[in-house]
Amino acid sequence: MPLLTCKLCGKIFTSSGGRTCPDCHTRLDGLYPKVREHLRDNPKTDFNVDTLANELETDVRDIQALVDMGYLDRDIDRRADPETLNRQKLAQEFESSLKQMQESAAQRAQNAASYGQQRYGELNKKK
Ligand SMILES: [Zn+2]
Repeated sequence: MPLLTCKLCGKIFTSSGGRTCPDCHTRLDGLYPKVREHLRDNPKTDFNVDTLANELETDVRDIQALVDMGYLDRDIDRRADPETLNRQKLAQEFESSLKQMQESAAQRAQNAASYGQQRYGELNKKK
């Protein structure tokens, strides 16, 4: 098992897949229901990691860790964030251009193969 530095407390620990040490993981596990509850009790408030950390009197890094691990994706509404929207759009564009690139790369590979065969044939003649 790999040794990792816990990104929350800096302690070195043996990882079984997570990025945080067992201590921090236990703390986050306890924090998560509180955060969810707080979000549920205040459905009309726009939260970010700073305001949440303030109101729950906890470390902003703990909240951020929950977000990073995807725990709060559905709870903190980030659809309104233009930067997120932009990133999603970019990801879609990237995906479709990737598809196009793959298609044309496949075509080029075919062309290159026949071109290579021609060249190789010519080179062979010169020898
Ligand atoms: Zn830790």
